[in-house]
This record gives sequence, C-alpha cells and structure tokens, in this order.
Amino acid sequence: MSEERWMVVRCASCGRCTGHRKAPRTCTRCGQSFPRDPDVVSYASSAGELQRAVAVANTPEELREELTARMGRVVEPETEAPSPASLLDALREATDASGVLEHSAVHAVLVAKGMGQTVEDLMAMVEGEGLVIRSGHGRWQFIE
Ligand SMILES: [Zn+2]
Repeated sequence: MSEERWMVVRCASCGRCTGHRKAPRTCTRCGQSFPRDPDVVSYASSAGELQRAVAVANTPEELREELTARMGRVVEPETEAPSPASLLDALREATDASGVLEHSAVHAVLVAKGMGQTVEDLMAMVEGEGLVIRSGHGRWQFIE
C-alpha cells in the first residue's frame, strides 16, 4: 500500500485552488509564490479524488453540495457494479417456490443491486445465455 497523498492548496493571491503532489512553491494559476506553509484546503489519496477535491474547492459554497452529489452519482456505477455471478445468484434466490421468476422479483433484484437496466434487457441477456426460458408474459424459469 502506498501512502501517496495529494493536497489542494488555495492561493492567497488569486483565490484559486490547485492540486499538488508535494508542497508547491508557486501557484500554477497565477505564478504567485506560496508561503512556507501554504493554505492547504484538503487532502486526497488518489489522482481522481484530487481532481474532484479541486473542482469542489473551486466551486462557490452554494453549489458545492449539488456538485458533490452529482459526482457521487457519476462514480457509483463503476465501483458498485455487481458481478454477473452475484446477479445470477440473486435471480435464483428471487424465484418462487415453483421455480418461477416473476417480473416484479427481477425488478426488485435490479433495484437492490442499484442497476439501471430494465427487467426486459436483463432477462433478454440471461435468456441469451441459455440460463432461463420465458414461461409466460413477464415470467421466466431457470433451466437447471
Ligand atoms: Zn494564484
């Protein structure tokens, strides 16, 4: 594990925040020299986090919350995408006692996994894999 740390520094001269790997000597925006202990606004543990931290630091207070929320939504699908295997497990668990998978049960799985796919799209994919057969309108059965 690396202990890499980035810092967001606010320039006293131009008021802009910039990201740095090491304590910077000058502002990359206006060229103003920084004091020995510059005004560090925040720290980040990755380049991506730094980018967001700088953007947030340069956003007026009243827009910050909205920006943070929007960025949170953008990065979420990448970090939380469920694996196909865990999705299939969830679908198998969602079948009722007679082995039927109802449209509403598939929808519940999609919601629980935080996926934006439609039930039809997901089941078309699973059908394409030959794992289920359609047993009626909005009903499927696993092929064991
Ligand atoms: Zn500056």
